Amino acid sequence: MDEKTIQKRLKKTIIFVAGIIIMLLMISDLLITFLKNTMTDAANTQMHYETVEYKNRLFKQIDADFQNLNTLSSFIESSHLTTAHALAPMLQKANTYNAFITMGYFEKNGTGAMAILDEAVRTGVDVSTLDEEVIEVIEKAWSGERSVSKLFESQAISERVFVYGVPICKGDTIVGALVASDHIDIFTDIISGNGVLGGDGYIHMLGSEGKILIRAQQDVIEEQMDTIFDGPYFNPNEVENVKNSLDQQETIFSSFQYQGVTYQFLLEPVGLNGWYLLCVSTTQESSRAVYRVIRVMGMTFAGILGLILFLLFYGYHMIQKSNRDLIYLAYHDQLTGADNLPRFRQNLANALEQGHSCSVAALNVHQFKFINEIFGSEQADRLLCYINQILKSRLLPGEYCCRDTADLFYLYLNETKQETIFTRLREVIEEITRLSGGGHGNYRVLLYCGVAVFSGHSQENYDANSLITHALFALASARGSYSNNIRFYDSQLHRQETQENYIVSHMHQALQSGEFRLYLQPKIDLSTDTLGGAEALVRWITEEGTMLFPDQFIPLFEGNGFCARLDLYMVERACCQIREWIDLGIKPVGISVNQSKLLFFERSYIPSLRALIAKYDIPANLITLEILEGLALKNIEELNAQIKVLQEIGFCVSMDDFGSGYSSLNTLAKLHIDELKLDRGFLLESSSGKSDRSRIIMEQIVQLSKRLGISTVIEGIETSEHDRLSKSLGCDFGQGYYYSRPVSAAEFNLKYMGYDAADPDTD
Ligand code: C2E
Ligand code: MG
Ligand code: MG
Repeated sequence: MDEKTIQKRLKKTIIFVAGIIIMLLMISDLLITFLKNTMTDAANTQMHYETVEYKNRLFKQIDADFQNLNTLSSFIESSHLTTAHALAPMLQKANTYNAFITMGYFEKNGTGAMAILDEAVRTGVDVSTLDEEVIEVIEKAWSGERSVSKLFESQAISERVFVYGVPICKGDTIVGALVASDHIDIFTDIISGNGVLGGDGYIHMLGSEGKILIRAQQDVIEEQMDTIFDGPYFNPNEVENVKNSLDQQETIFSSFQYQGVTYQFLLEPVGLNGWYLLCVSTTQESSRAVYRVIRVMGMTFAGILGLILFLLFYGYHMIQKSNRDLIYLAYHDQLTGADNLPRFRQNLANALEQGHSCSVAALNVHQFKFINEIFGSEQADRLLCYINQILKSRLLPGEYCCRDTADLFYLYLNETKQETIFTRLREVIEEITRLSGGGHGNYRVLLYCGVAVFSGHSQENYDANSLITHALFALASARGSYSNNIRFYDSQLHRQETQENYIVSHMHQALQSGEFRLYLQPKIDLSTDTLGGAEALVRWITEEGTMLFPDQFIPLFEGNGFCARLDLYMVERACCQIREWIDLGIKPVGISVNQSKLLFFERSYIPSLRALIAKYDIPANLITLEILEGLALKNIEELNAQIKVLQEIGFCVSMDDFGSGYSSLNTLAKLHIDELKLDRGFLLESSSGKSDRSRIIMEQIVQLSKRLGISTVIEGIETSEHDRLSKSLGCDFGQGYYYSRPVSAAEFNLKYMGYDAADPDTD
């Protein structure tokens, strides 16, 4: 996971958690609002319910007043008295005993009597002199309708009153109207008291314009008010709404503010004279503690969430900081402060992904371990820091470098031209060599460098790792020369190295699993043109089915000593093949097996050969051991001694590739070999027609060999001309593509030994 992914994930988590917290805050706000609304709704419902109840009580009072009047009217109707004058004493008496302020009886002729509390009864009162509200009620009564007037200021008693009126009949005829006035205060007892809303409310009585008719004894608002619209308690928009609703005689739920507290109220029309009951809920006031608790809880909750949010962002900040530190540690070299290889690789991968053409140079100090040893690790560390500084100072925009381990540095260059890269790197190396001289006495700090170039999209499947690996390959090839050396990666060389690596790492397993196969090339008896023997030539058929030729692996095996094992293995394959021929009743031919120098002088060599002969129970003279002339260069006596032992056992010894190296006739004369194989170079020379010299030499060699009792084999016979020439020279045997290429043992058997059998070496 890279730095960007970590940052992205961190950010996502923070945003997610912050989102959840904000959502929780919103939900809690909604919950509080919902709670408040629910409480307000409950309070409103309760207010409405109670106000209607009080309204009913008012009507009961009005009904009771009418009842009183009806009782009196029944009495008047049943009495013989008909005139107002006559009824005046009774009116006064009745007025004294009931709760009305005034009572009056008015005949239809427009005169009547009026009893006022604590005053003498008035008679002969002209209806037209009365207040218009009273006249209206009287006229309604005359027309047979009972009614209640609006509130008005009575002239007679100078008080605000309202009047009830009922008709008085004699038989079926209405003869007069009985009226009674009363204070609005009669409702005071009803609406006053502590019972409104269970003690959490007050009820006032209002006139149609919002005038306060009866004000509850306790009130939220202490100031004296004429109408409810006095004072700044309503919000101006609300005043208009309330007034409109009052005009329409509608029920209104609303609120007003007083001393910072909001109070809910209900205006319920009484249904009489445009009166209203105003119910004010002080629940808000009494529930203030509850609201406070809710608010405190809400605030605490918000505070906690806020704190979590803060901690979250603080944590995010800290994580980012420690992330930065960790990333610094993860992507930087502690010693020099340079980027490290993972960071370099990441940047390189990004550049390659974007298709940038570039080159990667791997830089190393020659014999850095000695600098460490001679000058101490502190001085060596200083040198590394110094190299880093110089590398950085030489970079162009968009280029970068890093230090991997020890003295290995990498450079990313935006260059692909070999000459430019070479010049730039040479300058860098020379500057390091020149300037680092100061701290290291006469010691010259030398560097070597391997470069891999990526020239863009054309190079498919090229990633950061392969570019770095190739730079390292080139670096390894530059290591050899002890100077400021710069090498470019060579893909051919690399392929070869890869193959060599495969060979070396797979040889043991290949030997075990029988991947080395016996191939045979016929050796033709030139005097009869018949098969005179065969040479065993190894082929490596890998598990993937690729055939590798001796030239590809024998030199490596000679270098690492594996050749000795392989040669003995091939001797064994040859013995096995001869055994098969004998077992099949076929006359066997001798097989020559190539033997490497290493093996030839190994102590266990001869015992191993003996063991093989014994194991397969074959005559040793069917095996010819081919040695190379190089063996004879040093100690001919020792070689002859070894040859002698082998010959005593019965083996034939042949000298291979004679004439290809430093062979001399003198050596030939001294060697006690049985056979001489003339290198195919002779044939090539003599058939080119350039000179007769090689033909003459060949002739001499063949002659000399004959005299020494050594049979001759001429290699590389490719044409009939070669064949003729070899015969004319008197050579005993010939070997070459003219007769046959080396073939698998199975093919050889089919072709020369006349049978077709499953062979372990058959591919
Ligand atoms: P060599 O022993 O001189 O074997 C002859 C080589 O010449 C063979 O190559 C063969 O294929 C090739 N040759 C034969 N006739 C002709 C021809 O007409 N024209 C040309 N151009 N080449 C011809 P090969 O098999 O590739 O072997 C190469 C060498 O590898 C051998 O040279 C031998 O020195 C070595 N070698 C092969 N097998 C073994 C082995 O089992 N052990 C050791 N130590 N060396 C081996
Ligand atoms: Mg050979
Ligand atoms: Mg040869």
